[in-house]
Amino acid sequence: MTEQKATNVHWHDGEISREARCELMGQKGATLWFTGLSGSGKSTIAVALENTLHQHGKLSYRLDGDNIRLGINKNLGFSAEDRTENIRRIGEISKLFVDSAVFALSSFISPYREDRNKVRELHDESGYNFIEVYVDCPLAEAEKRDPKGLYKKARAGEIKNFTGIDDPYEAPENPEIHLRTDQMTVEEEVSTIINYLKERGFLKDI
Ligand code: ADP
Repeated sequence: MTEQKATNVHWHDGEISREARCELMGQKGATLWFTGLSGSGKSTIAVALENTLHQHGKLSYRLDGDNIRLGINKNLGFSAEDRTENIRRIGEISKLFVDSAVFALSSFISPYREDRNKVRELHDESGYNFIEVYVDCPLAEAEKRDPKGLYKKARAGEIKNFTGIDDPYEAPENPEIHLRTDQMTVEEEVSTIINYLKERGFLKDI
């Protein structure tokens, strides 16, 4: 991935372990990585999931495409190279949340399989859980929803490199969770995720 530029830099450990933080919070943080076409429902599901977790006293934090591009990634565009760097940085940020015992709800189109797999590897190397949630919606349906009017613009040639129109979307091959948002309600999608987290011990006392 990206080369290490600085030399003589070393990780400095604190005295409170991640396990201690998880114990304190009554939850085992993980990254929930929502990937799918624009308009497939990533942000909608992340917002609903955050609400449900909050009601149960569980802390999560949403990382969302536009928000990140307005801040830390404001120097990146939509070329393949910039998309890759965008995802790499978000992967690193997600890891910090997981290390702090919080659930990172990361909603990004993240159209390239290789980039998502690199984020998974980054998590694996540190022993963190990466839960890929495939927010699956046929292009025709996503385009019909067009919540931000972006497909219309892309079809008119006003946006270049738009995923699904003139840039590819590579669907996950083995996502931990697969949601067909043209066939499920938001409530069903959220409970599918909550059940997954419960069954695997990420949530205490829910
Ligand atoms: P994305 O974050 O993937 O670009 P958004 O969440 O912004 O997508 O938009 C998805 C749109 O689809 C919203 O207007 C939402 O209300 C609608 N929608 C309809 N059915 C569903 C569903 N089952 N799950 C998620 N979103 C849905």
